[in-house]
Amino acid sequence: MKILVALKRVVDYNVRVRVKSDGTGVETDGVKMSINPFDEIALEEALRIKERGEAEEVIVCSIGSNDVQQQLRTGLAMGADRAIHVETEVATQPLTAARVFMKLIERESPGIVFLGKQAIDDDCNQTGQMLAALWDRPQATFASKVELADGKATVAREVDAGLETIEIDLPAVMTSDLRLNEPRFVKLPDIMKAKRKPLDTVAIGDLGIETAADIESVSFEPPPKRGGGKMVGSVAELVGELKNKGLL
Ligand code: AMP
Repeated sequence: MKILVALKRVVDYNVRVRVKSDGTGVETDGVKMSINPFDEIALEEALRIKERGEAEEVIVCSIGSNDVQQQLRTGLAMGADRAIHVETEVATQPLTAARVFMKLIERESPGIVFLGKQAIDDDCNQTGQMLAALWDRPQATFASKVELADGKATVAREVDAGLETIEIDLPAVMTSDLRLNEPRFVKLPDIMKAKRKPLDTVAIGDLGIETAADIESVSFEPPPKRGGGKMVGSVAELVGELKNKGLL
């Protein structure tokens, strides 16, 4: 079985995001970029499945400009076998990304397509669900535990009420939640080895995918600055302040 893992290049989660001065987007020049944290977790899980002998190959894929190859190389250094870069200069929306992954599924026939539950840049949380619909296969989103047996997956999902466990037939789409695992650190020799692993590039147009944006971002603005806090001496004073502000 092959596992296809999606890695999105995003602003590193430790970076304080700044809106560009002209309000056309978020500043990425000179900013540290990383693999979307949920995608790193998805890759870690795929690698563990392979290490348990339940998969033969882990393929990482990313959609974007040539820069995404940095994240693909990191994925290869973590242990993925090969990488596919789907090249486009246009920032893709979830439906376009799902259509691309569908094309890769047609080429690779994976048993599992593992994505992050959401990309931390746009927080859409849509691509995995859309992909399952396009593929017409089961989905296990927000996975916090995955067990495979007899062509099925038993997946514990993080839902509002706690944990829900479902069983799905493979092939299927899975999306990772935060508590699924702790991704491994990349070691220097693995970075060197990763340089020799195969990384194929395909232009998004050659997959027959239109990149016209479904959504136009009109403007970006940072959240308003927080006003200073006020220390109160008692519960009564707190209640009074809240009433003054019309919050009670
Ligand atoms: P979203 O629906 O945008 O929150 O993204 C959910 C997941 O889809 C991400 O965590 C990635 O695994 C995958 N994904 C979305 N866009 C891309 C992209 N451009 N390249 C690689 N993976 C992506």
